[in-house]
Amino acid sequence: MTDTENARLRQWVAWIDRTLVKAYGEPEPWPPGDPLDGLIATILSQNTSDTNSGRAYDALVSAFPTWDAVIRAPRKQLERVLKPGGLARIKSARIQRILASIAETGALSLDCVRNMTNAEAEAYLLGFDGVGYKTVRCVLLFDLGRDVFPIDTHVHRILTRLGVLAPGMSAERAHVHMPRFIGNGRCFSLHVNLIRHGRQVCHARNPECVQCPLRRRCEYYSMGGGTSDDGGMRSRKS
Ligand code: SF4
Repeated sequence: MTDTENARLRQWVAWIDRTLVKAYGEPEPWPPGDPLDGLIATILSQNTSDTNSGRAYDALVSAFPTWDAVIRAPRKQLERVLKPGGLARIKSARIQRILASIAETGALSLDCVRNMTNAEAEAYLLGFDGVGYKTVRCVLLFDLGRDVFPIDTHVHRILTRLGVLAPGMSAERAHVHMPRFIGNGRCFSLHVNLIRHGRQVCHARNPECVQCPLRRRCEYYSMGGGTSDDGGMRSRKS
């Protein structure tokens, strides 16, 4: 990518950020949390709604007083507790595996990442089985207040429709590609506002483009999108 193209993308992303702040406001800062609690909560949020994952997390911490008790819990019991969040079998196994790996380091805690750089913390957390970029960056952004950018399904869909991400670029590649185009200190606001936009306007099916403040610089809209129900998967080539 040339310097000119990099500069164009940085300016475009800054415009998206400003436009979303005008539409939705500057999100309230999130109070920092415990990174291990955040990691488990983020795993429970995979492939389900906030409501269901919140129910599963509440059920988990009320059934088991410590993370050590979760490691030692019979798998079937854990699956029953996590059922409200969906994919209970997969998530139970993943959570027990991750907690057991962390316990092997000598402390059932992720406080060690507090003293790591973003790159170090990311590499460390990605080492746990079943933990990907989105989960890691959610923990760093929401629990440790770091300036990193998670790309969930809403963020990926909108940035692809806008044309900021090339057609077909995976979320995993996008995690590597995007950060250089986001202004310092802007990751939290951009992430939260893109999710709001995905929930309220740029739906997976039938995005409401006519009321979208981003439509002037949206490739999907410029190609006549906004009325199809193809889930937004049309590429520039369609
Ligand atoms: S114009 Fe339509 S497709 Fe583009 S970002 Fe807005 S709602 Fe999404």
